[in-house]
Amino acid sequence: MGQALALNVNDIRFGVHSDKARLVLDLSKVVKFRVFVLSDPYRLVLDLPSFQWNAGAISRPAGTNITAVRHGNLQPGISRIVFDLNSPIFISSVFTLSKQIGKPNRLVIDYTKISTSHFKQVQQKTYGTLNENNLSKQHSQAAYAVPQPITPTTKMKEKPLIVIDPGHGGIDPGAIGINKILEKDVVLALGKELKKQLKATGQYRVRLTRNTDRFIKLRNRVKFARDLNADLFISLHADSIRKKNVRGASFYTLSEKASDKQTARLAANENKSDIIAGVDLSMEDKEVASILVDLTMRDTTNQAKFCANKLLNSFISKNVHILDNAHRHAGFAVLKAPDIPSVLVEAGFMSNRKEAKMLNTSSYHKKISSALVKGINEYFAQIRKNQRI
Ligand code: ZN
Repeated sequence: MGQALALNVNDIRFGVHSDKARLVLDLSKVVKFRVFVLSDPYRLVLDLPSFQWNAGAISRPAGTNITAVRHGNLQPGISRIVFDLNSPIFISSVFTLSKQIGKPNRLVIDYTKISTSHFKQVQQKTYGTLNENNLSKQHSQAAYAVPQPITPTTKMKEKPLIVIDPGHGGIDPGAIGINKILEKDVVLALGKELKKQLKATGQYRVRLTRNTDRFIKLRNRVKFARDLNADLFISLHADSIRKKNVRGASFYTLSEKASDKQTARLAANENKSDIIAGVDLSMEDKEVASILVDLTMRDTTNQAKFCANKLLNSFISKNVHILDNAHRHAGFAVLKAPDIPSVLVEAGFMSNRKEAKMLNTSSYHKKISSALVKGINEYFAQIRKNQRI
């Protein structure tokens, strides 16, 4: 999507007056909208053409009956903002204001608090004219993303976009195998094979964070997927450990707390990638901290866990060797996209003689990829099923 055409939600302001409450959204342009109220629990819902959220995390706005503000993609071309309410309301007006000197483009929602019995009596209506049919072509091409936090009402229309992230690269070799092969080379070859197999299903759009032996900062891998509005992020790695007999694949999802010491060590090692390349991490840390408080994070992480379990099960059914307790959690920097389910796959151990040899063959890349494809298919099949409800 061209930057000039993109919609940005830059700020939300809340005003409480004696007779009404007013929400003002500062937007980069005036657009069509759809606003309505839902009950059980009470929510004020605002749909807009897909937007970039620049308004930060909003905590309970003082003086209002709003308890939380959430946002996410609803369907191709439409994003949703949900205001959770602790009491019923009646919307009195919704309108847009074009930019004036010193004032940006705005969307204004006025509402009054009403009693529960009053709420049941009044006819609640939908304000605005936004619908699937009047989205511009540019918007309808937006990728499908994050179906879980919000209950979508329409089916997935487009092919989901999967971003495959071969770990390390360039100056950062990753783990060095017992047979001197490098993790960065193994995972690049594996990533290319996985892309080929995913494309062959005809069901997905697929992008690699790197096609060549080059270094990419961890945050830029995440940014790459976010800029594309990806539906799934799979980071590929191959581990190394002192115990040479340990082998098998494992699956990692994000958690602030590592599931065990070994996992904490692994996350620390994988996160070192930027340090190896001499990247200043002070900026990243701040960004990561703010991402972790993002309200969409919990749903995204649950979806990632669900995906990791599907992958794990398909590895078992395809007879690919896996570790004990193969689904683990830790603070991997590369898994921190707040709105894209992300799983890190350690395909095997470069420190195990047998597995290192296998990881260096295209036949094993094919085998691992076909297990991943099976798990990914099952994951998206479930997502589609959820959306029909
Ligand atoms: Zn790695």
